[in-house]
Amino acid sequence: MHQATRHLVDGIADRATNYVLNPPRDADPVISFASPSELIDTFESAVGLAFADDAPAEDNADVLAAIDLVITHSMHTSHPRFVNQNFAGPDPIAVAGDWLGAALNTTGATFEVAPVFTLMESAVLHKLGRLAGYVDADSNPMPSLPPGMFCPGGSIGTLFALQLARHRHQPDIAQRGSNGDRLAIFVSASGHYAATKSAALLGIGSDQVTKVATDHEGRIDPTALSVAVETARRHGAVPLAVIGTAGTTVTSAFDDLHAIADICEAHGMWFHVDGCYGGSALFSSGQAHRLAGVERSDSFVWNLHKMMGMTQQCTALLIKRPEQLAACFAGGADYLFQPDKQFAEFDSGDRTFQCARRIDVLKLWVAWKAHGDAGFAARIDHAMAIADYTRQRIAASDGAFVSIVSGSFTNVVFAWVPPELRPLAALHPADLDDQVRTQLHHLPPQIKARMQAEGTGMIGFQPVHGMNTFRMICMSTTLQTTDIDALLDAIDQYGNEI
Ligand SMILES: *Cc1c(COP(=O)(O)O)cnc(C)c1O
Repeated sequence: MHQATRHLVDGIADRATNYVLNPPRDADPVISFASPSELIDTFESAVGLAFADDAPAEDNADVLAAIDLVITHSMHTSHPRFVNQNFAGPDPIAVAGDWLGAALNTTGATFEVAPVFTLMESAVLHKLGRLAGYVDADSNPMPSLPPGMFCPGGSIGTLFALQLARHRHQPDIAQRGSNGDRLAIFVSASGHYAATKSAALLGIGSDQVTKVATDHEGRIDPTALSVAVETARRHGAVPLAVIGTAGTTVTSAFDDLHAIADICEAHGMWFHVDGCYGGSALFSSGQAHRLAGVERSDSFVWNLHKMMGMTQQCTALLIKRPEQLAACFAGGADYLFQPDKQFAEFDSGDRTFQCARRIDVLKLWVAWKAHGDAGFAARIDHAMAIADYTRQRIAASDGAFVSIVSGSFTNVVFAWVPPELRPLAALHPADLDDQVRTQLHHLPPQIKARMQAEGTGMIGFQPVHGMNTFRMICMSTTLQTTDIDALLDAIDQYGNEI
């Protein structure tokens, strides 16, 4: 290799390895926050962010100086005090596995170009399928047709699942297009927006998605679901599918999957489970009960890049009857999927919409081999322990913090209350005086802006019942009770100083 290329590759790889092994923590900033114009100015000192016409080849030293700026100004999602999102703190082994996948640069479409990865995918999907009760424990653990697919993210997984549902309803839809049936889809009001986006993209129409009422924690109300399905049918729609959520994005609530399965069976509807966030509860024997009934679903999407710390993206879409995949998605390109080549039955490429497909399985396979089932369970149990600690801290805060949603999984939704409003008159935002609610509503954005400016933490907020509330997402293995203390203390300090 050319000496200069070698020097640059080493320089980038050394920085990345060092970052993964010694990520920012404790008093290190979670973010060195800068505005877009400040970032543009900063990069001018190395190599500018933009490209001129006739862009020159820059010196290694300048490129590496820019790489240092990239690292400095990126969000440090590995920092334990990054509790902003439904992903955080990647598993270092998964990061390295991802690098190896990039180094081996291939596509998962065919056995001939991905012999090992094809078998790995089969093995991992089968194991995930066993956890979900999709396949028999004693069936072939590496079938040529595994019970699902890897796909690029949870939203895409839900899109594919709804296309499978539509294809089951109208088997010639791929060739003839829709027969004109008005299809109805049901998801809870706390469900992910992938439902409406998928309906829009599939030509079903986002108006055909009914957002069913939930209880206070964000779990679907099965009675309301039944009523909604009956109503849609009465109005001439074909009830197509219900999306049950296993771990909602905001309150980490789990729908009653058995109740949904009963309704789907009664109406011949497709049952899709959105376990993007909470599917990983299946790894822990103490938490798996939250997904009771998932084995009765037709499809189940599961983001391993969320709770399990795989790098983005790593999504499994499990399918109960995987032979439907090829029936629904095959394009039959004869230059890729020649039936007369060796081991063509292992080719997965014609079972999905994608052509080239990233090798997302390697990082999961290597991390799972290294940690074992017990290591994966420990990750979930640690997250639960930290979330329980956070709930205790809030309960013992003499009204400085109040829990807004009485959740029991890894997300804690709460508000900070200014001293003059303690104790808060009511815990449900709807029961608060308008003026008090408005005052509380405006606090989280100001407190968060101060946190970003000082780099002391990153926590998300969102309206719940019309009032902005904080959401602590407990997920990283490196997140400790001292980090929770530091985050709550910072919120309290900044709140008092407003
Ligand atoms: C994150 C999330 C999704 C979307 O997954 P992407 O991989 O970001 O597309 C869907 N449903 C739930 C409940 C989620 O939390």
